Amino acid sequence: MPRGDGTGPPGGGGRGTGRGGRGGGFGLGPGGDCICPNCGTVVSHARGTPCYQISCPNCGTRMTRKR
Ligand SMILES: [Zn+2]
Repeated sequence: MPRGDGTGPPGGGGRGTGRGGRGGGFGLGPGGDCICPNCGTVVSHARGTPCYQISCPNCGTRMTRKR
C-alpha cells in the first residue's frame, strides 16, 4: 500500500460506487432486450451496452430498446 496502513478508503475519496452518475431511474433495468426497427429481430444485451450501439445481426440496422 503506497498510502500507509491501508485502512482508508480505496482511491482516496471516490464518491461512492455503483449507481449515481447520470440521474438514474430511467426505467432501464440491467440488461434487457433490443429490437430491430427494420426487421423485428430481438436480441438481448448486457447492461452498459446501449441498443443503439448494436447492429442487427440480421439486417445491420441499429437496434432500439424494446419496451
Ligand atoms: Zn434487422
